[in-house]
Amino acid sequence: MESESTFIAWLRDRLPPHSALRLGPGDDAAVLAWATADDVVVTVDMLMDGVDFELADVDPRRAGRKALAVNLSDLAAMAAQPVAALVALALPRHGGLALAQSLYEGLLPLAERFGVALAGGDTNSWDGPLVISITAIGRPRNGRVWKRSGARPGDVLLVTGQLGGSILGKHLDFTPRVEEALALAERYEIHAAMDISDGLALDLSRLTDESRCGAVVDVTSIPIAPAAVELAAQRRDGVTPLDHALADGEDFELLLAAEPSVAERILAEQVLSGRFGVPITAIGQFVAEPRLWQRDAAGEVSRLAPRGYEHRLD
Ligand SMILES: [Mg+2]
Repeated sequence: MESESTFIAWLRDRLPPHSALRLGPGDDAAVLAWATADDVVVTVDMLMDGVDFELADVDPRRAGRKALAVNLSDLAAMAAQPVAALVALALPRHGGLALAQSLYEGLLPLAERFGVALAGGDTNSWDGPLVISITAIGRPRNGRVWKRSGARPGDVLLVTGQLGGSILGKHLDFTPRVEEALALAERYEIHAAMDISDGLALDLSRLTDESRCGAVVDVTSIPIAPAAVELAAQRRDGVTPLDHALADGEDFELLLAAEPSVAERILAEQVLSGRFGVPITAIGQFVAEPRLWQRDAAGEVSRLAPRGYEHRLD
């Protein structure tokens, strides 16, 4: 019978050393080295078998990778440099040890790539399905974080990458835009930002709500992912590639607000495409009038519903 201690022994052996980790898994809590002047940026995400992935169809390594990647995407949205992560697992009783090891084999390479110390966590087993909850800790790159609340009327709405159809694979294998966010934060003044986890329209409505303004989206400018075109062709259900780009969740791209002169420089310099192969595109403007609007090819403006993925709490 394998136990939690077998797993922790395996894990302590498997974890690489990290300069920020003074004390890692094995004690009652972890100790991180920290510059006292820095703020601490903290985020948590919980993924569940059957909701965020189907373990029956997905290699657990991809599920483990995704669980860390969604947290790194949230740190990217704050322009924070990832430092450490804590991993809490609720494992099904049968095959729990092998599953835990596979999850870690998936998330460890991503942690190494982004310099994240795996500082500890908790491992339980139960009669339910796999639940994996990761808490990630970061520090602001320039002493200041990006927030959702700073967009101003007149600002340009920018987006990284391409949108839609993530269910065909990107929702598991996406690269969190950490390096992109830090590169932008170093060069430009960004008024507001967030990552797109639940759909462009829904997440943009959250950003405009926090900024107490609205936005007009030029739908002809939205960078539609090839996967959105493929998904529409596969399903033939009347949902267009544009609809997928507007409402599909889990693209994990960044939405940004910058004043027009800054946006112009960002678009002209395209620092992300040279270094990371990621385009950045202007897809609209922030306006004083609340709510979302869409401008079509003919220049007609109509309401844009904040569609996307939401967990139901009823
Ligand atoms: Mg987020």
